[in-house]
Amino acid sequence: MSQSPTYDDVRSAAARIASQAHRTPVLRSRLINERVGADVVFKCENFQRVGAFKFRGAFNALSRFTPGQRRSGVITYSSGNHAQAIALAARLLDIPATIIMPHDAPAAKVTATEGYGGQVVRYDRYTEDREEIGRALAADRGLTLIPPYDHPHVIAGQGTAAEELFDEVGELDALFVPLGGGGLLSGTALSTRALSPDCALYGVEPEAGDDGRRSLRQGTIVHIDTPKTIADGAQTQHLGTYPFDIIRRDVNDILTATDAELVESMRIFGSIMKTVVEPTGCLGFAAVRNLAPQLRGQRVGVIISGGNVDLDRYAALLTS
Ligand SMILES: *Cc1c(COP(=O)(O)O)cnc(C)c1O
Repeated sequence: MSQSPTYDDVRSAAARIASQAHRTPVLRSRLINERVGADVVFKCENFQRVGAFKFRGAFNALSRFTPGQRRSGVITYSSGNHAQAIALAARLLDIPATIIMPHDAPAAKVTATEGYGGQVVRYDRYTEDREEIGRALAADRGLTLIPPYDHPHVIAGQGTAAEELFDEVGELDALFVPLGGGGLLSGTALSTRALSPDCALYGVEPEAGDDGRRSLRQGTIVHIDTPKTIADGAQTQHLGTYPFDIIRRDVNDILTATDAELVESMRIFGSIMKTVVEPTGCLGFAAVRNLAPQLRGQRVGVIISGGNVDLDRYAALLTS
């Protein structure tokens, strides 16, 4: 097994992805600052390539393949954004990509993945185990499996978003990060402890799937059934082992947000900031709104993790 990633790995990932990943904008809104009572900065990964931070980890991981691994190809499983990220990174690096996706993945994500040249294999997320399918196909076809979060190179790549944020805005009092399997949060933790050591760092997961919070409390990774939530990017059943070790060391706490709170944040992003954010991407800001009284006067960072949502679904969520 590889070593747990460190901040040095984040810096090395930043150099590897620099020519391909966007340095995403940091947005602020005076109106939001007034409403929250804090100075809030948003790192907008909904403007990243493929519309989510996942391109960072995917490109970092694939750029480290040996010539033999490149020829044979990559395989992964994903509810969407990691799939698109692997498919695009693989195309840029000329590596064949096989992607295992759930039957109910948003149509835009499936179409985009196929559009990038990925070969999609479907499974039923409520009855089948995607990790098992992935391992079996990888062994069978000689492919290298790059999972969505439980991998040192993926974690290091995801950490580059926060590295850019601190580079741009300096130290923060608190930082709020969407949490699924923990790749983004653990990578962010490496950058945070190096660049803004006193910053309070929070992971935010859907209330229907609070396995991360329970894992932190119990000191061991808690497994749950696939949670029913509109935050499809965080419908994970458990934290990864690499992420968990970093999270329990470096993260202050894990919070939750309800689907209704995510919709309210989507509405604020759309109406005030004129930006489309997918439900999962709203987790960080939903927690900030809940905690506003405690954050008064602080410098607060929020990672907006992605913006991939079918427009029909976006409209339906906002009018429900
Ligand atoms: C994957 C994803 C997450 C969760 O990231 P993890 O690394 O699994 O914790 C959050 N938001 C979006 C938009 C994602 O695509």
